[in-house]
Amino acid sequence: METADVVIIGSGIVGSSVAYHLAQAGCTNVLVIEREAHQGKGSTGKSMGGVRAQFSTPVNIQMSKYSIDFFSRFDEIVGHPADYRAHGYLFCATNEKHLAYLKANRERQNALGVTNVEWVSSEDIVKMVPQLRVDDVLGGTFCPTDGFVDPHSVMMGFMLNARDKGVRLWLDTRVTGIELEAGSAGILPASASEKSAERMSALPALETSINQIAGVQTTRGRVSTRVVVNAAGPWAAEVAKMAGAELPVEPLRRQLVPTEPFDRLPQRFPMVIDMSTGFHFRREGKGILLAWNDPNETRGFKTEFDPSFVEKILTHAASRVPVLAEAEVNPRRAWAGLYEMTPDHHAIIGPAPNVQGLYFVNGFSGHGVMHSPASGRVAADLILSGQSDLIDAKQLSVDRFKHGELLREAAIL
Ligand SMILES: Cc1cc2nc3c(=O)[nH]c(=O)nc-3n(C[C@H](O)[C@H](O)[C@H](O)COP(=O)(O)OP(=O)(O)OC[C@H]3O[C@@H](n4cnc5c(N)ncnc54)[C@H](O)[C@@H]3O)c2cc1C
Repeated sequence: METADVVIIGSGIVGSSVAYHLAQAGCTNVLVIEREAHQGKGSTGKSMGGVRAQFSTPVNIQMSKYSIDFFSRFDEIVGHPADYRAHGYLFCATNEKHLAYLKANRERQNALGVTNVEWVSSEDIVKMVPQLRVDDVLGGTFCPTDGFVDPHSVMMGFMLNARDKGVRLWLDTRVTGIELEAGSAGILPASASEKSAERMSALPALETSINQIAGVQTTRGRVSTRVVVNAAGPWAAEVAKMAGAELPVEPLRRQLVPTEPFDRLPQRFPMVIDMSTGFHFRREGKGILLAWNDPNETRGFKTEFDPSFVEKILTHAASRVPVLAEAEVNPRRAWAGLYEMTPDHHAIIGPAPNVQGLYFVNGFSGHGVMHSPASGRVAADLILSGQSDLIDAKQLSVDRFKHGELLREAAIL
């Protein structure tokens, strides 16, 4: 019989960071279970790698501040590269509402110790990216320590370090069920997550509150454990259901389009965000990586790239950066991945209310890479001591949806 103090379901950047932070704190009898043959096949491998402290809510600003500082010293701390590039994020405002929003954010960021966000005029913006059309740009903000990391390197760095300390990783192994000890309700079925969920919802509240994690069922057999961490990215709601828990996390497709080599933009420039459309772009090697979140996209497990997206994004690109009309795009090199969306676009981190020993680290709504150092640290703190001094973790508890205490982040990229 295999046993572990903690089982982590999912070995993407979040599961890897939780494993690292647990091991760092001395908890090394940890087993990470990944259904794919390689790490990074979920959202982590699809990410744009952007990291920024320019958020509007205190909790996101605090998570970014910790994480960006961590990325800047990643090699030293973790012993592996993160490829952190402090090229900055440049937000370009085209109306008074945008300016007021950036101003309020900057004050909040400043109050929380992110003191290097600069006001920039349209003249400053043109100096950074001369090819931008700025006739309608009123100004913006630039934070030089925002930038990019390589998500795959960060994930591998966390996991390699954790494994050096004794953490085990099972690849090619799917978790098919979560076993609960349910006091008077008896032992719940290990597999058949749907059935488990039905039975759980039929139980009176008092009885469901005493369920305790007993183990997980996998395609490699049973593992006995008292603690399970759900780090299953866009599939997190399915995994939660295996324990009869509700988790409001839904997949939402996001598509990225790289251009062929393009030298008509500078070799180095920030991530530029056109606030009028949400179009944003950065340099990726010799080409440019184009991103735009289609407001008409609908929820669901859609991971195919839609070729008609190319024309839509190139329209926004050419409008803000006229030279991009000349960029060549091969739709076969474009890709799609899934954001893990929550109703208030903030992560869910913390214990499940009715299942003792089950922890969520889910629903990053587009920010799971940049917040991975903080989320791993907070999750490990909560598992090991029930509290974290990094943030007020109660804000990110899943209970907030039940109590109507939603957080609101207006700028979602
Ligand atoms: C196009 C795109 C661009 C993005 N850009 C950015 C960005 O610029 N900056 C940023 O911070 N974030 C960005 N994100 C979001 C970011 O990629 C995610 O928030 C992050 O990767 C989530 O990591 P994760 O480890 O939780 O999930 P994942 O990487 O999806 O890992 C979850 C893992 O769980 C495994 N799994 C699921 N179910 C089971 C099971 N039953 N048994 C075993 N294993 C299981 C999966 O195989 C998967 O490997 C982007 C996302 C997309 C799609």
